[in-house]
Amino acid sequence: MTRLLLRNFREVPDVALSASGIRIRSADGREVIDGSGGAAVACLGHAHPAVLEAIRRQIEKVCYVHTGFYVGEPVEALAEHLVGHEPGGLTHAYFVSSGSEGVETAIKLARQYALETGQPQREHVIGRRQSYHGNTLGALGAGGNLVRRPPYAPILPQASSHVSPCYPYREQRAGEDDAAYVKRLADELEAEFQRIGPNRVMAFIAEPVVGATLGCQAALPGYFKAVREICDRHGALLILDEVMCGLGRTGTLHAWEQEGVAPDIQVIAKGLGGGYQPIGGILAAGRVVEAIRAGSGIHRHGHTYAAHPVACAAALAVQQVIHEENLVEQVAIRGRQLETALKRRLGQHPNVGDIRGRGLFWAMELVEDRETKTPFAPELGMNGRVKLATYARGLACYPVGGTIDGVRGDHVLLAPPYITTEDEIE
Ligand code: PLP
Repeated sequence: MTRLLLRNFREVPDVALSASGIRIRSADGREVIDGSGGAAVACLGHAHPAVLEAIRRQIEKVCYVHTGFYVGEPVEALAEHLVGHEPGGLTHAYFVSSGSEGVETAIKLARQYALETGQPQREHVIGRRQSYHGNTLGALGAGGNLVRRPPYAPILPQASSHVSPCYPYREQRAGEDDAAYVKRLADELEAEFQRIGPNRVMAFIAEPVVGATLGCQAALPGYFKAVREICDRHGALLILDEVMCGLGRTGTLHAWEQEGVAPDIQVIAKGLGGGYQPIGGILAAGRVVEAIRAGSGIHRHGHTYAAHPVACAAALAVQQVIHEENLVEQVAIRGRQLETALKRRLGQHPNVGDIRGRGLFWAMELVEDRETKTPFAPELGMNGRVKLATYARGLACYPVGGTIDGVRGDHVLLAPPYITTEDEIE
């Protein structure tokens, strides 16, 4: 009998007793490789001494202060580390405790920007189908998750609608080249802006590389440039959700660097604190922040644990290790190795339809029939079965997707820590 309100009452999780490097040991004496860092979180692996030391030092100095009175020392240092060099025009940072809170912050900031710039009619968010931006109500509203969204649809707060994601494996038509597919998606987004009405959209939100819902699906070249152009033309902000794919995961510090466009607001979490502390946040473009500074002068948002000093100390240490140990370059190298190994060993497997990803962020789309791309029947719960089977063999990987209404397939996601060695990848 457990007193926990569990995620899944049919599957009681093992008790984790200790973890170090890329391995986790449970109470039953088993040791597994943390092949997905939980849900693409543990980017430095477990028990990194520099991060443990930074947490210990900060706890001894100041555990907690409220941002109405103070900021802890590492908070400004973390912001400086992330946006001091103003990547892509992002100049300011704000820290919360999770990715969902980061998405809420981004949506509210987009709304506040509309108000501060005299555009109160902008109240609509366009997202994409089969997307996930978090489990809180605002974030669920922005997302197009087919499982998590529908039960709450009647109580979601902001006006939102969804366009097609860039999902070549299933949605690029036969004979349609990449440029034509990108144009079709851009035309659909343009039509959605027109449908919502002139100057009514406050933001478009998307993940540069979709994690949980499409299985490490990057967009085709030119897609995000087209999106950026449409947002600019309609005066809407571009929010890029890099909660899963950011901070080195795809082989560049920010996934948007590979698209040649920068967002107005970027959401970060998972790889920010690497799981050492719960932390998420946003990075905001100078023009957004300046509109508020020149307007009301007040960022109308705030959480009790915003800019938590210990969480920020942990995140700063994680980011410094990533920087000092050149781990982003390492991700790119190990990523190529992982891609080669996956394709060599599983690329021809009759139930592996597609293997896709970037950096150390890879997924396999599982299918009943490789030729016809027929997904497994939903009741089989194939991604969950693969999770259990690999776990039994000593590898924790993250099951995502699932077949819903025949729309898409099951995916299994691998997102190993950036410190994973060549041998461990094999
Ligand atoms: N955005 C993306 C892209 C995510 O993958 C997730 C979580 O998986 C979130 C937001 C929500 O983050 P959290 O679970 O920390 O609230």
